[in-house]
Amino acid sequence: MTLSTLILLALVGGLAFGTALHDLCPAWVGLIDHYGFDPLGQIFLRLIQFVVVPLVFSSLILAMARIRNAAQMGRYTLQLLGGYLLTSSLAVALGMGTAIVLRSSVQMTELAIAPVLETPQAPDLLAWLISLVPTNPLTALATGNLLQTILSAGLIGLGIQQAGNRAQPFVQFVESIYAISEKILFLVLYASPIGVFALMSSVVANQGLGIIAKLFNYVVGDAIAILWMIAIYIAILLAFKLSPLKLFQSFSPSLSLAFGTASSNAALPVALQDAHTQYGMRDEIASFAIPLGTALKRDGSAIMQGFNAVFIAQLFHIPLTPTLLSAIFLSTFLVSLSTAGVPGAGIIMMTTVLTAAGLPVEGVAIVAGVNRLVDGLSTMLNVLGNIVHAAILDKLERNYLETIAGVTQEVTTQETVAIAMQATAGSSLNQSPVD
Ligand code: ASP
Repeated sequence: MTLSTLILLALVGGLAFGTALHDLCPAWVGLIDHYGFDPLGQIFLRLIQFVVVPLVFSSLILAMARIRNAAQMGRYTLQLLGGYLLTSSLAVALGMGTAIVLRSSVQMTELAIAPVLETPQAPDLLAWLISLVPTNPLTALATGNLLQTILSAGLIGLGIQQAGNRAQPFVQFVESIYAISEKILFLVLYASPIGVFALMSSVVANQGLGIIAKLFNYVVGDAIAILWMIAIYIAILLAFKLSPLKLFQSFSPSLSLAFGTASSNAALPVALQDAHTQYGMRDEIASFAIPLGTALKRDGSAIMQGFNAVFIAQLFHIPLTPTLLSAIFLSTFLVSLSTAGVPGAGIIMMTTVLTAAGLPVEGVAIVAGVNRLVDGLSTMLNVLGNIVHAAILDKLERNYLETIAGVTQEVTTQETVAIAMQATAGSSLNQSPVD
């Protein structure tokens, strides 16, 4: 059985087992979760996180060593960021639009209100941009800050390009780090069905599927917006003459892991593997684009935040003025860029969006219980959006290189013809009339 089949079985098993436990022996849930599911799930997530930083760091440096010049690097970055900007805006609009169209409403009295989370400060774009620049590469690695790790690897990669042969021992060292991390990942992946089963059982045993009925509009509305975005990505792939089927098949292990763990970071090493071994994406593109997307690309989270903010405004009968909608759009967009790739990160960032838009933060408490169920789906979309952009970049680069090769070949052919003609002309000039 393939890894993705095993993960899917674990998901279904976890769902069934968790529901049975919740309904049949509610008194045992706390104990079994505390000593069984929760520790197992946490250990699995920690083990997979163990390889994220070394794998991202080493694969990016190796990609940079392969990328020939700064112009090529700039082209990759611009194409990816431009694409992210377009599709993330679309995702936010889709989340907000779906909530507006569905006019979701729910009886507040039916809901068990969980305690309100601490409210963080509204996002400051400039401060966030400055904080991306690492002051110490080792601190970036040690703290697991993905964006700083990417920037550190980028700078070190540029240094390697400049240093030439003198950088070779370091490149070999990084190659060893990559090989070792890859082997550790394979070992950890053997445990992934157990980890996914434990994580799923824990959520369902604690919440029960009944919560979906209470917040039916919320869960279904969010899911509809996510499915729309998936359909849009399929259309985009077709427009670029890429096969959606091949992409879904190749990346099914990372997509199912994203769904099961609700962590983009956990799915990152597997997505890199899938890109290299199943999809046949060029190494230098996969190693560059996928980590960057894991740090920045969060379509599922963007949809969830946009949908949630409008849902809460409707719940509290707050009029959806253009000013409010713009505030929700902007804050959701910014927050989606800085949401960590870990389970439940979105619920923490939700308070930031609500505060920035001037909406009641009590709304978080209403949807907190059900969020973990939506989180799996939105994380899967986060990973999908990321890999679609990487696949498009791969395709565009192939076209670009083919065009360059075609032009070079044409120039070479023209030069060869010109040289041959010169030679013929020369030899006929050198021929004596007697010959
Ligand atoms: N769990 C999501 C992820 O890992 C982030 C979120 O909570 O929105 O991508």
